[in-house]
Amino acid sequence: MSVQPQRSDHPVTTTSERLGPGDLDDWLESGDVGLLKVAPDGVIMWVNAALAATLGYLQHDLVGRPLASLLADAQTADELLHRTGAGVAVRNHAALLRAQDGGLRPFTVHASARVDAQGRLEWVRCFLLDAADRPRESDVQPTAQSIAGAGPRAPQTLASAMQNQDERLLMIADSLPVLIAYIDADLRYRFVNSHYEEWFGRKRSEVHGMSLLELLGPVAFESLRPYITRVLAGESVTFESVVPYRVAGVRVIRANYVPQRGADGKVEGFVTLVSDISKEQKAASEREELLKIEQHARERLAVLTKATDVLARTLDYDRTLESVAALALPVLGDFGFFDIREGDDVRRIARAHHDDRIENLLAQSSWSGVEAPDAGGDESALNLSALRSGRSALHAKLDDAFFARIASDPAQAALLRETGARSLITVPLAYQGATLGSLTLMYGWSGRHHSEHDLALAEELASRCAAAVINARLFKEAREAIGVRDDFLSIAGHELRTPLTALQLQILSITKMTNHPDAATKISERAEKASRNVLRLSNLVNELLDISRISAGRLKLERAPLELGEVVREVLARHAEELNRQGCELKLDVAPGASGAWDRVRVEQITTNLIANAMKYGKGKPIEVRVEREDGVARLIVRDHGIGISPEDQQRIFQRFERAVSSRHFGGLGLGLWIARQLVDAHGGTIRVHSEQDRGATFEVALPVAHVGEVVA
Ligand code: ADP
Repeated sequence: MSVQPQRSDHPVTTTSERLGPGDLDDWLESGDVGLLKVAPDGVIMWVNAALAATLGYLQHDLVGRPLASLLADAQTADELLHRTGAGVAVRNHAALLRAQDGGLRPFTVHASARVDAQGRLEWVRCFLLDAADRPRESDVQPTAQSIAGAGPRAPQTLASAMQNQDERLLMIADSLPVLIAYIDADLRYRFVNSHYEEWFGRKRSEVHGMSLLELLGPVAFESLRPYITRVLAGESVTFESVVPYRVAGVRVIRANYVPQRGADGKVEGFVTLVSDISKEQKAASEREELLKIEQHARERLAVLTKATDVLARTLDYDRTLESVAALALPVLGDFGFFDIREGDDVRRIARAHHDDRIENLLAQSSWSGVEAPDAGGDESALNLSALRSGRSALHAKLDDAFFARIASDPAQAALLRETGARSLITVPLAYQGATLGSLTLMYGWSGRHHSEHDLALAEELASRCAAAVINARLFKEAREAIGVRDDFLSIAGHELRTPLTALQLQILSITKMTNHPDAATKISERAEKASRNVLRLSNLVNELLDISRISAGRLKLERAPLELGEVVREVLARHAEELNRQGCELKLDVAPGASGAWDRVRVEQITTNLIANAMKYGKGKPIEVRVEREDGVARLIVRDHGIGISPEDQQRIFQRFERAVSSRHFGGLGLGLWIARQLVDAHGGTIRVHSEQDRGATFEVALPVAHVGEVVA
């Protein structure tokens, strides 16, 4: 059985007749349904109080405004007018309405047209159900049936679902780390996500409806204008740019502008996605910087490794340092040089990366001579050579004015200018506190400047080079010492053999002579010769013993008051026969008072060595011996007129085993002068030679005339 609806018995009346007075107004104004009357041009003609209140407006605020300004999506207004104007009723259309506080409120809209007798659109009536008032049905998905309006709750379910979707979209838009906006063709914001508030310090509601120019500021707007023009022309634009925003400040952005077209294909607005990549950019440039540092570190390590390899490979430090200098370029400089001390000289090893001219210029210059006329007390500012200062220095910024100020002379300034050096480091090659040399490296044409890291690397390199130089020198000295020792042993062998052979011959002939009638005279002659050879042998042996004694520091002086003249006379007397045999005329000149506290045996030894040499190298010409006293010293001068000594040999002959003559022509171990100098030194005196080749030699010994009690050490 079906229940039929009861037919009403009331007579037919009009609505206003059936309602009580004012009921209709109440019904219209205060019901749950929002009502809108919209003119064909889209302007709101009337709005009921319920809708105005729901959105937080007064009714008259809304009257006269375009419907589009009340909707989040301006298109909805057009669509409503368009469709209803065409006679199609709009049902269950989900729309977001803009509340007075800027928030968007979901509504479900029904709309239909009121037409005049000619069928022309007079106005549009809109019914709006506040979807936000409905119970949340986020889990209820609208079914096809409910959307088709099969049940009384269908519109509400749909509105609720729509609302949830809008909320989700909003939430997503707000949670993305980008600015999201919808901008209409008039360049006004129609939707912005919450990040706009952070960037521009304005409430979302304030931004809605605001123009781009106003929010971004004229400078930012101008910089973005080309992209805006393109997106409005229908192109999707992606770009990165530095934008000087009015409030948000200068930011590096990456942006996407996507056009939004209407049904007619016309661009009605565009969506913008903007992200701040300032940090990203900074990180990228930091990464680049780190890569550069890492690359530099690798290059530097390679320099050290290769240099170590080169330094270990050979003991010829000249060639080695050339290779190391070449290796250090261009990592540590465009050009540079080693300065290596060799005695009183400085050897320059220069290198320039692909520039022979600068290399030659540097090779010919003497950097260590750089002087600072107006040092101004700042020594470090002038330390251009570690060879000079023994200290490292870094000058990262050099210019011509600086060169002109520090150069010792105009030529030096010109050289410095010529190289175009703009940055310089100089480090010492130090070994046990001594500066063996320096390494100086400069940047010029590369435009680079040295850092503390470069200085540290150069120091490390220099310390390895110093070790290599020392090793090479020790090796050279050891080799020379071995050579000297071998020469000495062969000379000593010859020297000892000569008197020994002679001695042997004397003894042999003595043995044979015993039966000879003149035996006595002949034996005594031979014996005398034998004794001379024994003396020569014992002198040689004494010299050998003296080397080890002196070298080991075991030389002890037995000081006693002595008259130099007297000692000299005695030594000469001992050599009278020898002098005679050599045919040397002797001139002796002894001044009185040349006395002091000296070791007699050693003073005799000094005198003997000088007299023996004068006889040996004096070509049988006269020998002059003088003893003088002068200014606190007693002087012994021995002068001959023999072969003389060339200037370059004069220092050397006082060294151990050093000789300036061939052992084929003159016997000797090369020890006499060395021993003499050691003995003179031990007495606190000096020994010098004045000579020229073939013009004889004058040896001069000066001994301090201190007395026994006054002698210190
Ligand atoms: P030796 O005479 O045994 O070679 P010395 O040490 O006494 O050793 O002398 C070293 C060298 O100095 C000599 O070999 C010689 O070349 C040179 N010399 C020394 N005295 C004289 C001199 N009076 N005239 C020329 N040369 C000399």
